[in-house]
Amino acid sequence: MQLYNNLSAKERAELIDQAGKERLTISFYKYAKIGNPELFRNHMFLAWDKLDVLGRIYVAFEGINAQLSVPADNFNAFKEHLDTISFLENVRLNIAVEHDNYAFLKLKVKVREKIVADGLNDDTFDVRDKGVHVDAEKFNELIEDPNTVLVDMRNHYESEIGHFKNAITPDVDTFRESLDLIEEDLRAHKEDKKLVMYCTGGIRCEKASAYYKHKGFKQVYQLEGGIINYVRQIEEKGLENKFLGKNFVFDQRRSERISDHVIAQCHQCGEPADMHTNCANEACHLLFIQCDSCKEKMENCCSTTCMEINRLPHEEQKALRKGQGNSNDIFKKGRADHLPYKKDLRNIFDTLSKTQ
Ligand SMILES: [Zn+2]
Ligand SMILES: [Zn+2]
Repeated sequence: MQLYNNLSAKERAELIDQAGKERLTISFYKYAKIGNPELFRNHMFLAWDKLDVLGRIYVAFEGINAQLSVPADNFNAFKEHLDTISFLENVRLNIAVEHDNYAFLKLKVKVREKIVADGLNDDTFDVRDKGVHVDAEKFNELIEDPNTVLVDMRNHYESEIGHFKNAITPDVDTFRESLDLIEEDLRAHKEDKKLVMYCTGGIRCEKASAYYKHKGFKQVYQLEGGIINYVRQIEEKGLENKFLGKNFVFDQRRSERISDHVIAQCHQCGEPADMHTNCANEACHLLFIQCDSCKEKMENCCSTTCMEINRLPHEEQKALRKGQGNSNDIFKKGRADHLPYKKDLRNIFDTLSKTQ
């Protein structure tokens, strides 16, 4: 039984080239009770490997969270297979706006403790008591309501390049931080304000909305299917697009453009830019926003130090890394003191508390 990839990313990219076929980038999630995640994981891997599915999929006792790409030709077979699994029958598939054949180069199905690392203790509240799901049309209406507080449930590096008009974008690195920060800030408005939230594909709001209801918020709404599904509905129904900029995604594409607004700036020179990059120095890999001219000047690096290291022969770089343990910057997404133009989102929160 072949349960693992036997191709490297490079070999896979070559194969995709040769096949010359269009691939669809899809995400979906479902909370469900999975008795044996390991067994389920193997079952999914075998079925999807046959269909040439690639992607990153998390399986847990609480359900499944999948980001993947599938050859357009195999889409029907893929869908049929999903429908054979009772809790995935007719699951909502979020299909990306922009496709990239190289979005994923491996099939990774992993068993995890939870399908989203939300830091919540699910036993302390009723996760099934969710907020009201709204579609794009209702969402557009709600966010114009003066009684609405619109909250972006994503992290700072995601909302920095794109968010809904008038949204609060907490300056947080983790989902858990965001939950607390919002609760604290809106404490006085648990009953009178409508708390409307959104995230990339809807999964983070599933738990967040239940958590806020548990914390006493009376009017909680969530954008069904998140930004990805919103954009699709906007196009299909010809609705007004209220999203500014780009939607951050967790694959090689990094983001998809939703509107022409460039709301972020290059972290190195301050010019308008909204392209994320990872520092080319293997030992750094910091995620930050870099404009084209800085990219060229800095050779894809976040600092001159990284640039110098990156110029060394590979063996020397390796020797340098030895004994240094893991570089901390790898986990410091978009934050580093030497980047002068990283936007301080904390101010947005301050403004909100002052106006209310
Ligand atoms: Zn720049
Ligand atoms: Zn760097």
